[in-house]
Amino acid sequence: MCDAGRGVGPTGLGVYLDFAESIQRLGKNAVAERYGNLFEMYERITGENPYEVPMRIYPAIHYTMGGLWVDYQLQSTIPGLFVLGEANFSDHGANRLGASALMQGLADGYFVIPYTLGNYLASTKLEKVSADHPEAKAAKADVNERVKKLLSIKGKRTVDSFHRELGKIIWDYCGMARNEKGLKEAIAKVRALKKEFWENVNVLGSDGELNQSLEKAGRVADFIELGELMCIDALDRKESCGGHFREEYQTPEGEAQRDDENYAYAAAWEYAGEGKEPILNKEKLTFEYVHPSQRSYK
Ligand SMILES: Cc1cc2nc3c(=O)[nH]c(=O)nc-3n(C[C@H](O)[C@H](O)[C@H](O)COP(=O)(O)OP(=O)(O)OC[C@H]3O[C@@H](n4cnc5c(N)ncnc54)[C@H](O)[C@@H]3O)c2cc1C
Repeated sequence: MCDAGRGVGPTGLGVYLDFAESIQRLGKNAVAERYGNLFEMYERITGENPYEVPMRIYPAIHYTMGGLWVDYQLQSTIPGLFVLGEANFSDHGANRLGASALMQGLADGYFVIPYTLGNYLASTKLEKVSADHPEAKAAKADVNERVKKLLSIKGKRTVDSFHRELGKIIWDYCGMARNEKGLKEAIAKVRALKKEFWENVNVLGSDGELNQSLEKAGRVADFIELGELMCIDALDRKESCGGHFREEYQTPEGEAQRDDENYAYAAAWEYAGEGKEPILNKEKLTFEYVHPSQRSYK
């Protein structure tokens, strides 16, 4: 499709995309038909014309496929908890197409939840839950204990430094290309980071006021769990498919090598408790009318 030079951006991860050869081979109109809107956006942002000079492209994560398991009503495994938008796993499978994330959010919000949540409320006998309910008390005690623990650690490292380190591990080992060795290393690194977080994080302030450091610490603790699970899932799926590219599973042309015979399922990982391996539930995917086919980016 085009020549790619290396070396753009702070870590040299970016590329130059030069369309000169494609324009020569296919003609400017054909390229404009495929990428005209992107070229226009790029020129508006950079002031450079991609028909004339190579584009400077740098990869950045901006969407995560997968999410909480939901049924067709958008209800999770917890009755009454409905999950919309990017947080649920439902619409995109292994790779989401351009502009379809917002479409999914709109569809979930406009066309699904008004009916399914309404149906749930109308058809479910909901018990009045007071703050004295044993479950409410237990949940409150859990949160208070977690908050107290975060504030009591008074370690040497900031919340941000853990967030950044986690991001780097996931980007380096579970980013655009993954392999078995790297994913095993990443799982070990994330588990070590988790241990250090709960021993050495320094959360400023107290729980008696609006505390963004405390709020962020709570999120980073969640991200660490999610990061570990993303690596476990990527290690378990021994094929390349969509946004999941395993270096060991590629065609001689360098395209993603899928294994539909063994991996045509949605992997729903179940929390098994602190320090225990999550349990894999396989939701088999069946394609009656449109059958998956190997995609080529050539
Ligand atoms: C750079 C970029 C470019 C994109 N371009 C496109 C595009 O061109 N087309 C397209 O379709 N999609 C695009 N996307 C994806 C799209 O923007 C998202 O998928 C979409 O916004 C998700 O909407 P959402 O409401 O599901 O979640 P979000 O927009 O992520 O909203 C979730 C909200 O929940 C809040 N929150 C999280 N945790 C907690 C908590 N514990 N307590 C309280 N609040 C919490 C967050 O602060 C956030 O406000 C892009 C995304 C990015 C980052």
